Amino acid sequence: MNENLKKPRIKRGWVSYEVIKVVKENPNVVHAYMVDHEDRNVPFDYKAGQYLTIKFDQFGPRPLVRSYTMSSSPQQQDSICLSVKRVEGGVVSTWFCDDLKEGMILKARGPIGKFCFDPSTDKDLFLIAAGSGVTPFVSMAREYANKLGSQGSPKKMHLLLGFQTPHDRVCGEDLDYLSDIHPNLKIHITYSRQEVDSFMHGRISKKMIDDIAKESFQNFTFMTCGPVPMMDMVVEHLKSKKVEEQHIKLESFV
Ligand SMILES: Cc1cc2nc3c(=O)[nH]c(=O)nc-3n(C[C@H](O)[C@H](O)[C@H](O)COP(=O)(O)OP(=O)(O)OC[C@H]3O[C@@H](n4cnc5c(N)ncnc54)[C@H](O)[C@@H]3O)c2cc1C
Repeated sequence: MNENLKKPRIKRGWVSYEVIKVVKENPNVVHAYMVDHEDRNVPFDYKAGQYLTIKFDQFGPRPLVRSYTMSSSPQQQDSICLSVKRVEGGVVSTWFCDDLKEGMILKARGPIGKFCFDPSTDKDLFLIAAGSGVTPFVSMAREYANKLGSQGSPKKMHLLLGFQTPHDRVCGEDLDYLSDIHPNLKIHITYSRQEVDSFMHGRISKKMIDDIAKESFQNFTFMTCGPVPMMDMVVEHLKSKKVEEQHIKLESFV
């Protein structure tokens, strides 16, 4: 913990962030750790699940704008982390994975978004994601893992996450670490393109959701983020189980 850190703040408008560390998880996933370039010791105030919008001027006459969710927890005040997964043929995600370097400056605006746990209305959390859609849920798991059941936090969390293979995981080491941290934080992983001992196999399915929810659908607030067909399947299934609309929250990355 950096003892020089001051009170967290939210700055309006475009803010310059300096990339202080780049970690390649695999050839297609990169983690970018950033601090406020002008105010390095002032932590950035945000809620787990929120995102930044970043402006890129280097790809042509008109700037490109893309959004990336913090995968870090607001409790980690030294820096924020964005975790970017390569999209085949994608301009910005390819640049992140291949060309991002320490010392670079990114212009970003935020935090933005309401895809967060709301202690005043939400129940236990059931979070369902695939691919890069795991980033908001990694942030939430990091944020609440040590305070489940205390005021302002959910009592229980289930994460149901889908990847193609273990090599395609996003934030894999964090998921390994978080899965042992608290008995009420359960991480269930399925691999669609490889059978792996002690993990589920196949795409996220209604049966996987049922096996975890165990007919207690009314106990949960569900949040889902990932490919549109997966989110459509989840919403349709939850509606068939009579989950109220306010307990189904969605975030689309496309
Ligand atoms: C609120 C929000 C939060 C996000 N958070 C994250 C995050 O934490 N990590 C992360 O990796 N991405 C995240 N994204 C997605 C990110 O903003 C970009 O859309 C993504 O990186 C692709 O941009 P690109 O310039 O590489 O692709 P582009 O050059 O814009 O697109 C190339 C092709 O890929 C398709 N495409 C675009 N985006 C996606 C996608 N997400 N999945 C599949 N196909 C796509 C396009 O339709 C197009 O055909 C988030 C998006 C939103 C809206």
